[in-house]
Amino acid sequence: MTQQNDTKTVLKNLSEKKDTYIKYETDEVITWCHGCGNYNIQNALKRALTLEDFETQNILYCFDIGCNGNGSDKIGGYTFHGLHGRVISVASGASIANPHIKVIASGGDGGTMSEGINHLIHAVRNDYPVLFILHNNHNYGLTTGQASATTPKGFAMNGSPDGVLPDPMNPSEFVLNLNPSFVARSFSGDIKHMTKVLRRALNHKGFAFVEMLQVCPTYNKATPQSWYWDRIKYTSDLKNYKANDIEKAKKLTKDLEKNIYLGVLYEDPKKENFIEKLQNRKNLKTAPVDEVKHYSISKFFKEFE
Ligand code: SF4
Repeated sequence: MTQQNDTKTVLKNLSEKKDTYIKYETDEVITWCHGCGNYNIQNALKRALTLEDFETQNILYCFDIGCNGNGSDKIGGYTFHGLHGRVISVASGASIANPHIKVIASGGDGGTMSEGINHLIHAVRNDYPVLFILHNNHNYGLTTGQASATTPKGFAMNGSPDGVLPDPMNPSEFVLNLNPSFVARSFSGDIKHMTKVLRRALNHKGFAFVEMLQVCPTYNKATPQSWYWDRIKYTSDLKNYKANDIEKAKKLTKDLEKNIYLGVLYEDPKKENFIEKLQNRKNLKTAPVDEVKHYSISKFFKEFE
């Protein structure tokens, strides 16, 4: 092959690859800081959706308030951007109303592990059919770097300059204690691994909890990229790890200072989700969204004519 032909082939392959992602791209200007983990997390989601053949019209994305929420207009499909800490309740309601669509929600460690922790607990208990992505960057980035419930103890942050006092929460360990049906963990520095985990989570029928450990180079100096790489290990490197033993999964998530295991930590693919448990909806072909009456609201607009 000549040099010219070779270049042509490379360009052709690149443009074909771009076309497969194009349906998820938008024209909005990205405002995340340079080096932010949000870029890779959203790209991994786009890759996973492409590889799993999802169409934009069959997806609803629900975004919480936070830096991750600023991605709400950067991905193609139906999106909802709600109140801080409340994204799981919105996503759960939408998934019950219309089980024909895939509902994907994302929230930060601030909104999810503090303001909205009640919603997380009950969504896991009820096993609503939602893929939830926790962007855990260990701080409130959007409001300029205050400590969250996952910030390492003793670290000085804006608002707590003498160091964070309480021990941090460990989200994956916390959720594993709620009898979940799916828990996975990945890292914003490893796009291939995130894609793999998200593909599996997209195919889970209940509440799929995915903790994305995320770098925030602007405000979180406690856990930079190198801090993660010094600790990261993969469940795929463990001999015979099958992700079907919740007690083993709990043990793996314990000591973040020593080891951070990435992978699908636990999965129960057979567990009935919330909708499957509803006796009064057994054998129904329609969804609640098909059954509600539709009213015209045009008369209300007449008041403003
Ligand atoms: Fe990303 Fe942190 Fe900047 Fe927010 S503040 S956009 S999380 S780097």
